[in-house]
Amino acid sequence: MSLSSSEDYEPPLKFVNSRDEITGDEYDGTQRVQMSCGHGVDPGSLTAWCRSLIDQGRFKLYCPADVAGGKCGAEWPYPEVRRSAVLGDAEQQEFERKLALTAARLYCDFKECPSCKSLVERKELSHLRVQCTICSSEQKRTYEFCWQCLRAWKGPGTPSDHCDNEGCVDPNLQILANCGIKDLPGSEIQGCPSTRACPTCGLLIEHKDKCKYVLCSRCHVEFCFACLDTAQACKAAKGRAWYQRCTRPLAPRQNRIPVWSCKD
Ligand SMILES: [Zn+2]
Ligand SMILES: [Zn+2]
Ligand SMILES: [Zn+2]
Ligand SMILES: [Zn+2]
Ligand SMILES: [Zn+2]
Repeated sequence: MSLSSSEDYEPPLKFVNSRDEITGDEYDGTQRVQMSCGHGVDPGSLTAWCRSLIDQGRFKLYCPADVAGGKCGAEWPYPEVRRSAVLGDAEQQEFERKLALTAARLYCDFKECPSCKSLVERKELSHLRVQCTICSSEQKRTYEFCWQCLRAWKGPGTPSDHCDNEGCVDPNLQILANCGIKDLPGSEIQGCPSTRACPTCGLLIEHKDKCKYVLCSRCHVEFCFACLDTAQACKAAKGRAWYQRCTRPLAPRQNRIPVWSCKD
């Protein structure tokens, strides 16, 4: 399980008198932003470089600076890029939408069939019951296994969060059921579960930020920890006083993990 939170700590931007390590333009009196790898970049060329990576379907944003014998290659976390490149609202939305699509494809579910070990794709994302076509044709009967406990399927085939094999439980659901509750600082929101499953991709995230809005590190969609709407929708519904409380009520403890749809 990976518990992660977005911007736990945001150091202030650092500026340096250096050349632009992306284009190679010499220092001309314009300060550059210093990235976490130490290289100075111009916010404009940073945006252009990252756009080209994202348009190629890349998910990892990295530093192209020339260093002795190669490229720096350091990976920049997306929140760092978002801050350093000074993205406008439209650019930010475009970047996040494309990154989310790429990530969805990347994490699109494949698992090893417990019987033949070939990779099987889950087509019905809401079903744990998955058929292996290789085993089915070899055994001349339908072979199905459980996506969660990776044993031969037992029980009825209706969408459910477990099969009838003993001990078939989703550990993430147990975490959601047992996590503590907390008041979100600086707001009127009380008794909020301290761990949420990202409403877009299902990644478990523990609340550490001061803000009720949390940027998911996997799908890059920012959401409201209280009402579980997207940050954009939650803010838009509330007008100016969005910080204190949401328009929608505090969402109860989740008893389902949202499944990331890999389709556009
Ligand atoms: Zn670098
Ligand atoms: Zn198989
Ligand atoms: Zn199972
Ligand atoms: Zn997510
Ligand atoms: Zn909200």
